[in-house]
Amino acid sequence: MRVVRSKAELRKALEPVRGPERTIGLVPTMGSLHEGHLSLLRAARRRSDLVVMSLFVNPTQFGHGEDFESYPRSEARDHKLAEQGGVDLIYAPRVEEVYPEGFATSVEESGGLTEVLCGAPDQRGAGHFRGVTTVVAKLLNSVAPDVAFFGQKDAQQAIAIRRMVRDLDFPVQIEVLPTVREPDGLAMSSRNAYLSPEDRQRAVALIRALRAAEGVAASGETRPQVALDAARAELERAGIEPEYLEARDAEGLAPAESLNGRPVLVAVAARVGRARLIDNLVIGG
Ligand code: AMP
Repeated sequence: MRVVRSKAELRKALEPVRGPERTIGLVPTMGSLHEGHLSLLRAARRRSDLVVMSLFVNPTQFGHGEDFESYPRSEARDHKLAEQGGVDLIYAPRVEEVYPEGFATSVEESGGLTEVLCGAPDQRGAGHFRGVTTVVAKLLNSVAPDVAFFGQKDAQQAIAIRRMVRDLDFPVQIEVLPTVREPDGLAMSSRNAYLSPEDRQRAVALIRALRAAEGVAASGETRPQVALDAARAELERAGIEPEYLEARDAEGLAPAESLNGRPVLVAVAARVGRARLIDNLVIGG
């Protein structure tokens, strides 16, 4: 496994392996790897001849007062796990390599996918997803993979990236893999490291809430609000006030009208202690 830090080195390393009969897989990460990331690496290993993992804590997707400075970083450990996960090449650029002086161009989805849920003005705001789509566009251009792998844990991010790739004709296939969870159901996240033992217990309420919504739908109820009320009750039991808890069309993210039509994304964000956590389930359809 090699680690490169510049676009020039990356290009040089990839040049000899690029060819019609060799597939390159890209797994973008912000490091602090856990089983969720490793499942993406394993999928990439199965699907590609060469696996590239990017490791970059992208400052432009963090808002003011968010955790960019304190975001958990553990490069040496990440290198070991990546190697065990079958990565051939790590691209770990410095901030100046990605955003050189005078950087002034961005990619922004403006069809409504990124202005809701995490992108709502009272949440992380539109700037968050502008940061995400811009850095993913740059990574796709720099690596030029055949396939890129993302997690359903960040469902809205995956939806926005699919739209960007379609709208801007990126010649890449996007694969979205299921959320990997702890045995008690908590979605794995680098930010779980912020949780005190007590908050770690309370955090399970997020998946309990989503499963309560799923249970309501499974019982034949068709009104999204009834499912959301059941979810909210679970959160309340754990003393958690969600930042959002919504049911939306799993593809276009319009507010869900019914639970027995198209697949519905039930998504939650909540602050638990020091951590802002997100999770989701797709129900029905
Ligand atoms: P991050 O390092 O948090 O930016 O995540 C990098 C990639 O891993 C993204 O595509 C995430 O959606 C994905 N990911 C993060 N957590 C999980 C998880 N628990 N299960 C599956 N994929 C995940």
